[in-house]
Amino acid sequence: MSGRIEELRDFGTASTAEFRDALVTWIDGHRVELEPPYRDHGSTEQLLSHQRQVQRLLFDQGWMRWGWPTQVGGFGGTPLLRAVLGEELTGRGLVHSAAYSMTEVLGPAVIEYADASLAAEVVPPLLQGEETWCQGFSEPEAGSDLGSLLTTAVRDGDEWVLQGQKLWTSWAHHASRCVVLARSEGPGTGSRGISAFFVDVDSPGVSVRPLDTMAGVDEFCETFFDQVRVPGDRLLGAQGRGWQVAQHILACERGPIFWQRASWLLHHLGEIADIADASDVAAQRLIGLAFAEVSALRARSQATQRQVAAGDLRAADSSIDKILIAAADQAVFDAARHVLPGVIELEDSPLADRYRKEWAYSRAATIYGGTSEIQRDIVASRLLNLPQVP
Ligand SMILES: Cc1cc2nc3c(=O)[nH]c(=O)nc-3n(C[C@H](O)[C@H](O)[C@H](O)COP(=O)(O)OP(=O)(O)OC[C@H]3O[C@@H](n4cnc5c(N)ncnc54)[C@H](O)[C@@H]3O)c2cc1C
Repeated sequence: MSGRIEELRDFGTASTAEFRDALVTWIDGHRVELEPPYRDHGSTEQLLSHQRQVQRLLFDQGWMRWGWPTQVGGFGGTPLLRAVLGEELTGRGLVHSAAYSMTEVLGPAVIEYADASLAAEVVPPLLQGEETWCQGFSEPEAGSDLGSLLTTAVRDGDEWVLQGQKLWTSWAHHASRCVVLARSEGPGTGSRGISAFFVDVDSPGVSVRPLDTMAGVDEFCETFFDQVRVPGDRLLGAQGRGWQVAQHILACERGPIFWQRASWLLHHLGEIADIADASDVAAQRLIGLAFAEVSALRARSQATQRQVAAGDLRAADSSIDKILIAAADQAVFDAARHVLPGVIELEDSPLADRYRKEWAYSRAATIYGGTSEIQRDIVASRLLNLPQVP
């Protein structure tokens, strides 16, 4: 255990306001340990390394354990406590919002669908920041049409043998585990023929090739599975029911994590508002519009957090959050680009590096987790029951 263990308070029955008050006091007293050691955007390695240290400290001091089930090393309590923790950290720029795509997206699915003993073994290291996980869904020929994926899983005794390729796997080159979707029920079985597996990335036959994003960040990878043997107890959910696991993960990826991202956006918008010239009417207008977009997202996201807390997160509903984040993210960094003319494009300062990479990443907000076009289709068909265009 790193760091001195301070007296842990019991927030099991506390209100979120009490939790927040105590947390903010604690954060104020630990700013030095929580601040990122870099002033620019940071490389993937730096971001993950800082995230690991912060999570370890938060876990040791109890903050990271509230809102998680006791069976996986948590202290229990409402998941809203997790949302408060993420909001207070990202809102101060202490932790990058990207970190939540592991704990808040893959963590809940493993708790829900893995054998209880496997979840009890692997979730605590994730919460403690000891492990990085990744999500192996997309393939070269299967992105929006995920149900057509080609990676295969063939049963061989007590094991499964995986063969195929994944694409855009974020952080696979730093990850020790990967949630992989593979076709277990034979060709042409669509979304009903898929199983989900929890795969150790150091298994023989797994190879990972990093790809640079246009932001210049080595975030994602091509991930290859060549006759990879996966133990039978690493199946998540039932055989052939991987689509259910995928929907659970996509619901988390398209909704709940944008609560933290909204705080991250407000942190940047505040910075931009401080830099902007008060007499620059166009800048003030862009900042105001971006604030309105983030506020709409936050209002929506609050309801989503309540769905999570009630154990009632609905996959189609999350598509609304996903549409809103894309608009908010791009509005904030478009405002930044206006306020920092030429800086994002030309300068080498830490500020320029940070805003250049965030601006470029905001362009991907209409793509990652499912494109905006697909989300609008889901809203139209599953929430509004609009007729399908033939
Ligand atoms: C930053 C980033 C991180 C990512 N991380 C991961 C990860 O960790 N793991 C993972 O598995 N994947 C990841 N992805 C991949 C992501 O999920 C896919 O890019 C996304 O689902 C879209 O798939 P695609 O790229 O194959 O685009 P395509 O499906 O080829 O779509 C191309 C274009 O066609 C449009 N289109 C396609 N089908 C339709 C339709 N039926 N109706 C209307 N328009 C349509 C799309 O909206 C899009 O504009 C990541 C992507 C990004 C950008």
